[in-house]
Amino acid sequence: MKHNFGAGPGILPHEVLKQAAAGVIDFNGTGLSILEISHRAPEFEAVLNEAVKLVKELFEVPEGYSVLFLQGGASMQFAMAPYNLLPEGGKAAYVESGVWANKALKEAKNFGEVEVVATSKESNFTYIPKDFTIPADAAYLHITSNNTIYGTQMHAFPKSPVPLVCDMSSDIFSRKINVADFGLIYAGAQKNMGPAGVTLVIVKDDILGKTGRKIPAMLNYQTQIEGGSMYNTPPVFAIYVSMLTLNWLKSKGGVEAIEKENKAKSAVLYEEIERNPLFKPVCATEDRSDMNVTFVVNNPEHEKPFLKLCDEKGIVGIKGHRSVGGFRASIYNALPITSFYVLIDAMREFAEKNK
Ligand SMILES: *Cc1c(COP(=O)(O)O)cnc(C)c1O
Repeated sequence: MKHNFGAGPGILPHEVLKQAAAGVIDFNGTGLSILEISHRAPEFEAVLNEAVKLVKELFEVPEGYSVLFLQGGASMQFAMAPYNLLPEGGKAAYVESGVWANKALKEAKNFGEVEVVATSKESNFTYIPKDFTIPADAAYLHITSNNTIYGTQMHAFPKSPVPLVCDMSSDIFSRKINVADFGLIYAGAQKNMGPAGVTLVIVKDDILGKTGRKIPAMLNYQTQIEGGSMYNTPPVFAIYVSMLTLNWLKSKGGVEAIEKENKAKSAVLYEEIERNPLFKPVCATEDRSDMNVTFVVNNPEHEKPFLKLCDEKGIVGIKGHRSVGGFRASIYNALPITSFYVLIDAMREFAEKNK
């Protein structure tokens, strides 16, 4: 068995994989595979409805919001958000807290003026920019709740006078949030919510339809809302597996319970990084992520042997992103506590060996 610390597509609960595998052969006793049923079949409509219901339940989504399952990944949302929200000649505000945020703001420049209100680029994104002014004439403020590559996380969200648009790809459903604070939330499923191929969107209905711009049907939130995420054939299997994963989360006690676990896990790992003489953390203490834990070795000669030790122990996906180096342990919701301690033990063993 492998211990999967990969950043994405990330680990899924083992029970979910078993259910998904069974559904590929015979979906709910229909005698058909989930891969070969009509998306208009009542059996699939039930899956989609259940997925939407679980999102609403787990996040306590208030009235006035729509929940969508779209394609194109978070990267499509980088364009879709400004397309739908940034009026011709208007302005949008962006916090540049990492490479994904940078990609989002670059895409927005195709649609109007972009004001980068804060950046941590000069430090290679080792902290979350905090003191900034949000222009009241901006159409929205775009933020990234968790910076997957660098291992920083917004533990408090800015109080914004304009709608808050948030890329939650790598910490969606890892912690409680107040949906009412946001105008638009989006997340590629493949980090913490399901398999690749589907993107969750939670959008406040009354922020739409204000750009005066013609929007292609597939890229228009309104069309997707009216079509109930089925304007065209939706990614049936990815939605199915996301639904199973959300259901698993609910059975674990929901977002509040997993948040406690996630916080406990990350605390143990950061403590080990601090304590262990061979390693050191990368990011500002107060901004450290509970999902993607980045760290480096004090002595560069230790990097390869530690990776080798991890490999021997079945630890995979631990190598840091090329723009940060070192290591990144993604400790998503589905990571079993046993796998987590295999990593902690490997770090301790490595320190013993290299005294
Ligand atoms: C992975 C990731 C993306 C890109 O997601 P795609 O679904 O591949 O487009 C965007 N933002 C964040 C924060 C990510 O972690």
